Amino acid sequence: MKSNQFDAIVVGSGISGGWAAKELCEKGLKTLVLERGRDVQHLKDYPTMTSAPWEMPHRNQIPREDKLENPVVNRCYAYKEDTQHFFVKDSEHPYVQEKPFDWVRGYQVGGKSLIWARQTQRWSKYDFEGPGRDGFAVDWPIRYEDVAPWYSYVERFVGISGSYEGLDTLPDGEFLKAWEMNCVEKEIQQRIKAVYDDRDVIIGRCAHLTEPKEVHLQQGRGQCMARNQCYRGCPFGAYFSSNSSTLPTAAKTGNLTIRPDSVVHSLIYDDQKGKVTGVRVVDRVTKESTEYFAAVIFLNASALNTNLILLNSTSKRFPDGLGNDSGILGKYVAFHNYRGVVNANYEGFDDKYYFGRRPTAVMMPNFRNVKKQEMDFMRGYMTFYSAGRAGFGHADAPFGAEFKEANSKPGPWSVYMMMQGETIPKESNHVSLSPDQQDEWGVPLLQINVGYDENDEKILRDFHEQGEEMLTKAGCINIRRGDSKQSPGLDIHEMGGVRMGRDPKTSLLNGFNQMHLAPNVFVTDGACMTSTGTQNPSITYMALTARAVDYAVKEMKKGNIG
Ligand SMILES: Cc1cc2nc3c(=O)[nH]c(=O)nc-3n(C[C@H](O)[C@H](O)[C@H](O)COP(=O)(O)OP(=O)(O)OC[C@H]3O[C@@H](n4cnc5c(N)ncnc54)[C@H](O)[C@@H]3O)c2cc1C
Repeated sequence: MKSNQFDAIVVGSGISGGWAAKELCEKGLKTLVLERGRDVQHLKDYPTMTSAPWEMPHRNQIPREDKLENPVVNRCYAYKEDTQHFFVKDSEHPYVQEKPFDWVRGYQVGGKSLIWARQTQRWSKYDFEGPGRDGFAVDWPIRYEDVAPWYSYVERFVGISGSYEGLDTLPDGEFLKAWEMNCVEKEIQQRIKAVYDDRDVIIGRCAHLTEPKEVHLQQGRGQCMARNQCYRGCPFGAYFSSNSSTLPTAAKTGNLTIRPDSVVHSLIYDDQKGKVTGVRVVDRVTKESTEYFAAVIFLNASALNTNLILLNSTSKRFPDGLGNDSGILGKYVAFHNYRGVVNANYEGFDDKYYFGRRPTAVMMPNFRNVKKQEMDFMRGYMTFYSAGRAGFGHADAPFGAEFKEANSKPGPWSVYMMMQGETIPKESNHVSLSPDQQDEWGVPLLQINVGYDENDEKILRDFHEQGEEMLTKAGCINIRRGDSKQSPGLDIHEMGGVRMGRDPKTSLLNGFNQMHLAPNVFVTDGACMTSTGTQNPSITYMALTARAVDYAVKEMKKGNIG
């Protein structure tokens, strides 16, 4: 038992777990990171990071057989021959879709930090005030001011490129040099700004080192080369991942132990001591069971897996899952509505091009219901667009001279616009454990029962109308609306189920991500989210994690946890 005793345990090594590990180790705690997947070392385990298309057996396409066997992960745009080793195959990790839900996962050291799209926007005060003001979910127990210093703290370390805009809907952060809009994007930006005084159009913010600072060089990371082949793992460590950044930093302290291939089955609640003492682990390869013990436990297994672990952590005291006296564990799951797109073309600018493969798009912060309720739907959506030229490597032509000729000329400009809509957390959108099906490690399968509602349809309609109107006013032609009709989950921003709040009767976590009824357990991945906002969520998970570790360690020093 002694060798299985640590000061802290972190479950999961992805974006939020990496941050928990770094912060706990830097504060001097002997920390065990339990990761269900295989080990992935920065650089060494990025087999395709510099591969050319002709070096891949299927020229970077996924064979038909794989598509048939794994329909869910194949719907993810980033799943290709060069990245497939970082994604979970449906056939290997089944779950129950009570309603269609595309659950995209990355089970390895680094989790989805290797394969995320790296877009990073802070929440605004309007997002934290949303549920309280509009009367849905529960009021967040924190406000923007509580998180702002922690956003700054993580942004400095991660390296976020962005422009200073002074917007209250999308607060500025600690930015590296911003990427540039191309000429058509600027033209659209200016025309939209000229017509609408409620719409801001800015270059995207993303976790790329456009000009590395000392803090990044010390991590062994270098400048982004605009290859945009990030999902393979970056040879320069230029985008943020746990593997290139937080985990090596944690390791340098000498306080980190990472145990890959460790499937956390549940948390151990000692009924006599009246507290959580550790975790039960099943070895992924040998299937052997082990227990590990610690004074404090951080759950960072990704939103739905953290729900699963807590629901599976039953004891005499908590027969329905850890801390679940209220019965709301697994409920109020929400996500982002990505269904709407608007495509268009742009005439002119034929003598203009742009540099590289920029890893971000243009962003328009939410402009609906921001300061008060104004529409016939709740909340709103963020809009993204980008413009590019066809041709140059993308021309469709037969092989040979004709192919080379077609691919050496840039084609016409096209414009792509998409939405990222807030969804309203509802009790009926929930996850639960299968009563009769288990995976090969003896863990019940997760049943997912999450769907759209009328509010989502209204938001989609509004985006289509506004998107088309804006692109028309911006001078685009051939404008086409699209509804991907994609299932929830494919947004890969699933959140909630273990939400924060003030009252243990209506929430599981307090304002420091600490379980109301199990105070040495902290949940700082997407499961903690009371509402979804319209921003890409991961930078908020990072900030909340660093903040929660700071609080947990202070509480341990005071003797309140441990
Ligand atoms: C293609 C794609 C694009 C994305 N783009 C963006 C974006 O632009 N911006 C953004 O903010 N977010 C984006 N995301 C989402 C982002 O990846 C997630 O929000 C983020 O990774 C969540 O961090 P996490 O720590 O909660 O989970 P993860 O990074 O998924 O890490 C969880 C870890 O826990 C491990 N684990 C799970 N269960 C167990 C268990 N029982 N025992 C032990 N270990 C376990 C997993 O193997 C995994 O390593 C994108 C995701 C994908 C796939």
